[in-house]
Amino acid sequence: MHHSRIAIYPGSFDPITYGHLDIIQRSLKIFDHVIVAVARNSQKNALFGIDERVELIRTVLKDEPRVSVDTFTGLLIDYVALKKAHVIIRGLRAISDFEYEFQIAQMNSTIGHAIETLFMMTSVQYGYLSSSIVREVCSLGGAVDSFVPQAVKNAMQQKYCLKNQLLS
Ligand code: ADP
Repeated sequence: MHHSRIAIYPGSFDPITYGHLDIIQRSLKIFDHVIVAVARNSQKNALFGIDERVELIRTVLKDEPRVSVDTFTGLLIDYVALKKAHVIIRGLRAISDFEYEFQIAQMNSTIGHAIETLFMMTSVQYGYLSSSIVREVCSLGGAVDSFVPQAVKNAMQQKYCLKNQLLS
């Protein structure tokens, strides 16, 4: 009997970047379905609200029927179990990602029954790319075209124009 393989790709996605999209496309070669799960845990300096982040992810992945977008609160492993999935995907960029990811993965495999965390190395061209660096570049008026899709760029520029108007 065929069981479809589902993976959960959790994160903040504030906003989604080409680095995330690369991990998603590569995951689709291994899994039948990927659920991008935006964490609802409060973040003080988030640029986009949860619904805006979900909307942007849906927009950029609208032609990919094997990806769905969702949000979760509370423990990730509870959400993974709820979705009847067994695999969490995380990306790894620099060694600096490793210690934190290692700790979380160990904790999740201890408290989460039979849940595996699968790490994917970043592609070389995205090794330095993070949502926070893109936010910073955009807020200072830099070009972000090689980091995020057009829809995300437009949404960011709107946010920062609004912010600048409020400040001036
Ligand atoms: P979090 O706040 O949970 O780290 P992010 O939205 O920043 O959420 O990232 C979600 C996941 O995507 C993390 O596993 C992160 O390591 C990975 N990721 C982010 N940017 C890249 C990138 N450029 N290359 C590979 N993985 C990435």
